[in-house]
Amino acid sequence: MAELEGLEFGKSDFVLLDEVNMEQFMENLKLRFEKARIYTFIGEVVVSVNPYKQMDIYGKEAIDAYRGRELYENPPHLYAVADAAYKAMKRRAKDTCIVISGESGAGKTEASKYIMQYIAAITNPSQRAEVESVKNVLLKSNCVLEAFGNAKTNRNDNSSRFGKYMDINFNFNGDPTGGHINNYLLEKRDIQTCLAGSGKEHVEKAIFIRSITDSSFVMNVSTFPQFNFCTVLYCVCVCVCVCVCVCVCVCVCVCVCVCVCMCVCVCVCVCVFPQLLRGGSEEMLGSLHLQNDPVNYVYTREGAASTTSNNDRSNHRAVLSALQVIGFSEEEIDSIYRILGTILILGNLQFETDSESVQVVGLEAVSHIAGLTTTKPDNVTKSLLFRTVATGGGEVIEKGHTEKEACFGRDAFAKALYERLFCWIVARINAVIEVKDYNPVLHGKNTVIGVLDIYGFEIFENNSFEQFCINYCNEKLQQLFIELILRQEQDEYQREGITWQHIDYFNNQIIVDLVEQPHKGIISVLDEACLTVGKVTDTICLESMDAKLGQHPHYTSRKLTPSDKTMEFHRDFRIRHYAGDVTYSVEGFLDKNKDPLFQDFKRLMYNSSNPVLKEMWPDGQLSITEVTKRPLTAATLFKNSIVALVDKLGCKEPYYVRCIKPNEMKSPVLFDDARCQHQVAYLGLLENVRVRRAGFAYRQPYARFLQRYKMTCEYTWPNHLMETDREAVEAIVTQHGFQDDVAYGHTKLFVRTPRSLFTLEQERAAL
Ligand code: ATP
Ligand code: MG
Repeated sequence: MAELEGLEFGKSDFVLLDEVNMEQFMENLKLRFEKARIYTFIGEVVVSVNPYKQMDIYGKEAIDAYRGRELYENPPHLYAVADAAYKAMKRRAKDTCIVISGESGAGKTEASKYIMQYIAAITNPSQRAEVESVKNVLLKSNCVLEAFGNAKTNRNDNSSRFGKYMDINFNFNGDPTGGHINNYLLEKRDIQTCLAGSGKEHVEKAIFIRSITDSSFVMNVSTFPQFNFCTVLYCVCVCVCVCVCVCVCVCVCVCVCVCVCMCVCVCVCVCVFPQLLRGGSEEMLGSLHLQNDPVNYVYTREGAASTTSNNDRSNHRAVLSALQVIGFSEEEIDSIYRILGTILILGNLQFETDSESVQVVGLEAVSHIAGLTTTKPDNVTKSLLFRTVATGGGEVIEKGHTEKEACFGRDAFAKALYERLFCWIVARINAVIEVKDYNPVLHGKNTVIGVLDIYGFEIFENNSFEQFCINYCNEKLQQLFIELILRQEQDEYQREGITWQHIDYFNNQIIVDLVEQPHKGIISVLDEACLTVGKVTDTICLESMDAKLGQHPHYTSRKLTPSDKTMEFHRDFRIRHYAGDVTYSVEGFLDKNKDPLFQDFKRLMYNSSNPVLKEMWPDGQLSITEVTKRPLTAATLFKNSIVALVDKLGCKEPYYVRCIKPNEMKSPVLFDDARCQHQVAYLGLLENVRVRRAGFAYRQPYARFLQRYKMTCEYTWPNHLMETDREAVEAIVTQHGFQDDVAYGHTKLFVRTPRSLFTLEQERAAL
């Protein structure tokens, strides 16, 4: 058994605090961080503080110490929670899930990897080859997903640009048999806008997000591109060109092309690009028509400055090898890199306007793109310069882009290529790891442990559509957290025959409704605005939100009094989230909610002779007259994916890891009180402690309790002579005089306040 911690390391469970208040909570958290105790329990929840240094606590010895043990037998650790989830799954045939949350850089992905490593280490003791192979693929998939989905950002050198939910399936032996990954994509971009003409530089930060349920979904629905782009927008913004196409039947279809800028530089920071450019062989780069330095590419130039090249070569090799181990064919791997090459070349493509029309500058790039995508150069040029539209009379015409539209189309195309590639990779991995030929009659119940590594609540100085989506997701997860934690408590009390006490807590359903309610919620107002024919601006949309939701207790309209001259600056609204008030700037909401990709690109890709590309663009087979039905908006897709996620989690027994980032400097010694306190507040940790203590703070099976505390009582040490363990436990409780503070369940002792246990712990330590 691992050494239990002494009191000098603070309370190993926040439930043991003398009083539940922020001051004591923070004091304990800080003390433990300073003493290199990065994990602390709240009952079965593990609170983790990112140590920003390698800790020697994950090795074989630790794995052995936690394997098969009860939660309280060892100091708090990720392994304790992983083991609890595994035990529940194996012993009680329960589907379980481990939800890891926290802000960017808090340590979610690292935690998820340790959890997976732990599960891999404790399973398949007989080393069966097929199980080892499943484990190998599951672990290798991390390497690939990180390369394609992670990027260096200001806040984290290896930031996941997507939320990930992974189900691991187990057979009746408790060995992994397969899995399934769902990705919730996230695009972040830093936008610097120079407002030309005003002479004033306006710097704006925005984060762009889209989500889809999973990769199979994107194959069927036309979705919007999304991945990590750092975008530097120079020169003037703003130019809305509206082209209206009236369809034969009833509907009028408006295609609003918003040209955001004169000149856009998008820089892709996802790890795979610098890895390819710095780590790819001469031969590989030559075949992709690429040069070996990220600074040569518009999309990677910005990112290149901030990434180091030390490990690019080895990382590139690791990704290639992981792809092979997972089972990607040579042709598939070749296609993946061809798509990456296409994106980089696309980014460098420029347009010019001569007297008559817009042209691509440098046709060599076009022929490289055609070669890499196995399409015809003429078709590539045409897709870049024209879009096909249906007129009112059902006639199909080609309309030339302006230079701005061409730039916009190019970037939207590049992003869509990347997004579909990412989703296709996830789908391919899923095809490999999905459980095949499982016969429940022969093999027993197939159980699951789900691991969720997803973005946490975000409040920035400027909050936009992306924060709105992320925070909505967190409202949903909080709703689930409250419901499940309370439900779990209630279930346990019922199972053990103990009277349940109602606990008051803030139910954030009202905020969830504010966002997602059909016909009334913010998403529905947004979608309505996106579908409205004519010029609907963000501000008009905001006004309609104000009209519908102005009275909602968690929505603050920023509508100013008519006499107020600043009415035209009415650009934001505020939501009172469970984690605090967030003011959202509505600017860009509508654009981000729409699918801006011209159908011509979809058709171009569908008509590629490369089967992989064709598979990624099934919606390209639709002719323009068939594309009258608008694709679901980004917000609705996101909502659907989160609702599906919550449904999935809701039917599992949940375990939680709440990650905290101690400082912004990535320092192993700095504990920024204000930042940590903020996170503790919005993660609802104090509330969690209160809920835990309002009922019974602790519960332990009689045998375990006895084993731990028998030495503190003369009737039980070294052995008791009573008939049952329960009676022996009663003797201990009575001797220490806290009989009014406990309840006796069928199999467990329930202790109401931590003080009683604390006394026992002290006495035990003093012996
Ligand atoms: P994002 O939301 O941006 O993906 P995240 O919460 O997933 O962030 P991680 O990538 O897991 O954050 O962690 C950020 C960095 O912090 C890691 O690259 C690593 O350097 C450090 N770190 C996190 N957890 C640990 C740990 N347990 N031990 C050592 N270092 C850690
Ligand atoms: Mg991460």
